[in-house]
Amino acid sequence: MPLRTIVVGGGIGGLSLARELARLGLPAVVLERAPKLGTVGAGIIMNPNAMRVLEANGLAAGVRSRSTPYLARDTFDHRGRRLATRDYRPLYADGRLAAGALLHRAHLHECLYDGLPPGTVHLDTRIRGFEADPHGVRVETERGETFSADVLIGADGIRSTVRARFFGGDELVYLGYRSHRFVVANRDGLEHFTEFLGRGQRVGLVPIGGGQLYVWTTFNSPAASRAWALESVEALRALFGQFTDARVRRAFAGLAATENVVCTDIEEVRQESWARDRVALLGDAAHALSPNLGQGAGMAMEDAVVLADELAKADGGEQSLEAALASYVARRRERVETVVRLSRRVGEEGQLSGPLACWLRNRRLRREGRAPERVEAALERLLAWP
Ligand SMILES: Cc1cc2nc3c(=O)[nH]c(=O)nc-3n(C[C@H](O)[C@H](O)[C@H](O)COP(=O)(O)OP(=O)(O)OC[C@H]3O[C@@H](n4cnc5c(N)ncnc54)[C@H](O)[C@@H]3O)c2cc1C
Repeated sequence: MPLRTIVVGGGIGGLSLARELARLGLPAVVLERAPKLGTVGAGIIMNPNAMRVLEANGLAAGVRSRSTPYLARDTFDHRGRRLATRDYRPLYADGRLAAGALLHRAHLHECLYDGLPPGTVHLDTRIRGFEADPHGVRVETERGETFSADVLIGADGIRSTVRARFFGGDELVYLGYRSHRFVVANRDGLEHFTEFLGRGQRVGLVPIGGGQLYVWTTFNSPAASRAWALESVEALRALFGQFTDARVRRAFAGLAATENVVCTDIEEVRQESWARDRVALLGDAAHALSPNLGQGAGMAMEDAVVLADELAKADGGEQSLEAALASYVARRRERVETVVRLSRRVGEEGQLSGPLACWLRNRRLRREGRAPERVEAALERLLAWP
């Protein structure tokens, strides 16, 4: 019998793993607690490494069909003065990187879901209990169903139940800032990822195809604070009043109400162990990271490729299941840690609030922007995968 996998969580990581396993002929069920595929009303940046995964697994064309190509990233200060432009086109032109894409999250989820054999995903599934012993794993649901398999993967996000059950304590660390996300009409016809760096705050404007603009913010905020400015659109606009550029003003003006604005604490999961016996963690459940490089989903997708590869070797008898999970962790750890660290650093810089510190940061960005070869080399090191 082929190796069977239960994946808890039908987010980007869980669906990606199921896709990779299906391509290798390995059966998987995905247990998702939401009644329909969960998507916040927001966009997502699929960086070149994530797009490389989608190119290899056959889903890239569908993803690109409703997206904006990620050609360049323009960075401005809070008043709209240009600091730098990161141009990806030379890296795409000679094939060093797969072209990145900017799109709505709902579209990405649809593509991943449609790429699975029918019946793989069990929605609206609440888990009552997990068991794992040397013979296999079992999951019981609140509806009274029991799922049995050889291996259990926790792809259940930043507040993972699988992590809590099999790996103990919660390793969540709040990084001191929060983020709003919403989608409005792209009234300025922006074509590039466009970001504005302020004092203790940032605003990003990301065209995601279909005439839509994904707007994200970050703002310094004590952990206990509830001052999220969601009581009204006026309050939200006022919170980001330092951004006087007309493009930011128009993006915020396009928001009619705040009920669909998502506000998220920016947190990391610092989890020592990702695998034990027949259970492993993937994506945010293992290593949620700050969003500053747009790499959380990318890391989950890369995890999925490596984990499926190792599970296929276990299925073929080349190694034990435990060795496969250990090898998955060994192949992923360093890469993930590098990206987590870099992303955290970009966030620390982005959230600087003192006038002098911000001035120095902006000056450094301007200087770096004048050395495009160095920027390209750094991007290639980060974004070329595998
Ligand atoms: C503000 C912000 C912006 C971001 N922007 C980007 C970006 O542009 N590009 C990028 O690559 N990444 C980005 N990320 C990160 C990215 O969203 C995550 O890293 C990615 O979604 C992780 O996928 P996942 O499948 O591991 O977890 P999730 O997407 O959280 O999915 C987990 C799934 O598990 C389900 N679940 C949870 N508990 C249970 C349970 N007990 N039983 C069954 N199901 C369960 C949930 O309903 C959910 O569907 C961003 C993150 C934030 C916070």
